Amino acid sequence: MCALAKMTLNESAVDFIDDDALSELLADARSDPVHVREIIAKSLAKEPLSVAETAALLAAGGELVEEIFATARELKRKVYGNRIVLFAPLYVGNQCVNDCRYCAFRLSNTGAIRRTLSSDEVRQQVEALENVGHKRLILVFGEHPDYDADFIADTVRKVYSIKVGHGSIRRVNINAAPMDHDGYRRVKDAGIGTYQIFQETYHHATYAKMHPAGTRKGDYLWRLDGLNRAFEAGLDDVGIGALFGLADWRFDVLGLVSHSLYLQNRYGVGPHTISFPRMRPAAGVDPDKNNFVGDYDFKRLVAILRLAVPYTGMILTAREEPELRREVMAFGVSQIDAGSRIEIGGYTEAGDAQVMEREQFMLGDIRSLDEVVRELLTDGFIPSWCTACYRLGRTGEHFMEFAVPGFIKQYCTPNALSTLTEYLTDYASDETGAVGEKTVRTELDKLPDSQQKKELLNRLERIRETEDRDLYF
Ligand code: SAM
Ligand code: SF4
Repeated sequence: MCALAKMTLNESAVDFIDDDALSELLADARSDPVHVREIIAKSLAKEPLSVAETAALLAAGGELVEEIFATARELKRKVYGNRIVLFAPLYVGNQCVNDCRYCAFRLSNTGAIRRTLSSDEVRQQVEALENVGHKRLILVFGEHPDYDADFIADTVRKVYSIKVGHGSIRRVNINAAPMDHDGYRRVKDAGIGTYQIFQETYHHATYAKMHPAGTRKGDYLWRLDGLNRAFEAGLDDVGIGALFGLADWRFDVLGLVSHSLYLQNRYGVGPHTISFPRMRPAAGVDPDKNNFVGDYDFKRLVAILRLAVPYTGMILTAREEPELRREVMAFGVSQIDAGSRIEIGGYTEAGDAQVMEREQFMLGDIRSLDEVVRELLTDGFIPSWCTACYRLGRTGEHFMEFAVPGFIKQYCTPNALSTLTEYLTDYASDETGAVGEKTVRTELDKLPDSQQKKELLNRLERIRETEDRDLYF
């Protein structure tokens, strides 16, 4: 029995995933062009799709898939705009009491090199991240008694306190095990952004195969109810995700949409973000590849999620290879990580190498932040490190961005341009700086003349000419 078993499940915990109902929806869904086009029209009007409507999109084949791709691209272009928010993961510790079959940190992997960053090492990692221009981190932890809520909260406070040059971390998100109510309150008090928990797979039988009984993570409902406890504890900024490659990908798309609708209906707010990691090679893991998702289906799942959950941010991680990331980015992705290292201490110690024994899994894209920023700029995106809404208490920002007319023009684009100008002034290579300044000029030209634009121009000048930083609307 694992050492964390004393936590008790909410009495109100409900298992809202009905495998038979979801499987039936998938089996019965027909690719009817008229129906699929009606659903596409609903997405373009930014209406959330039902689980059944999502199943219909999953059944669509042939040229309808091309229409779904085109719709995802159009939504990104017309509705979500061309900003992409950048962040980096910081792995704090890889001790773990669980034994997830797909993960190199699992308890039975005795070959794993176990390590937890000391306070001083956290400082070194954060300084290295700040020195290349990062402003937003997600802290990642295994599940272990050493990583209780107080430890996580202390680490968050420590990260916020570290400043080097013009560098500072302005938003710290968390990816860690589900907590009890009290735990969530403690990490919320430390000022976290999003608390992210992936269900891994919503398919009960597959979940049981991947997470042995008797381990904390073996308890499906404890995990599924994890974000409900977060909401009840006052933490309403949460992220969901599924690890694609474990079960039928279509089933897990329906699982994610069901989870999203459940949170929306029960708490009046859906998840802030949705993640769709795909299985990667990991030390000692010999996975059943039957449910692995090929690139074409991966694009389908990202595009269909974009159509189904209009008010949710979508995260595409560095697990994917650069070329595919570039293509999928245009399907409505709002956040990516860049310059990532996931071995503990990797930002000062790993260099350009990935060592299987040290990694949770192998990344597909280990290009530097500067290189990724340059590619984004070349492809017409605005890299952004904006953290304004969260710091001004404008919660539900992703919802407001798309539901409140003019919100993007008034807040998101100006804040993206000022954080981009900070990056270009303080960290970019000459080559990236040149492409970036061109983007800033082009985007400024698109903004209508107004008092706010004058103020923005003034702020950009202050960033370039003075020490003033962190200016936001
Ligand atoms: N220990 C916490 C937990 O399980 O919730 C933190 C999560 S873990 C450090 C981050 C995520 O990595 C997991 O939720 C899982 O989805 C993903 N992951 C684990 N093994 C993976 C693999 N081989 N390939 C890709 N992603 C993997
Ligand atoms: Fe531990 Fe998380 Fe890896 Fe599972 S996925 S073994 S809980 S670190």
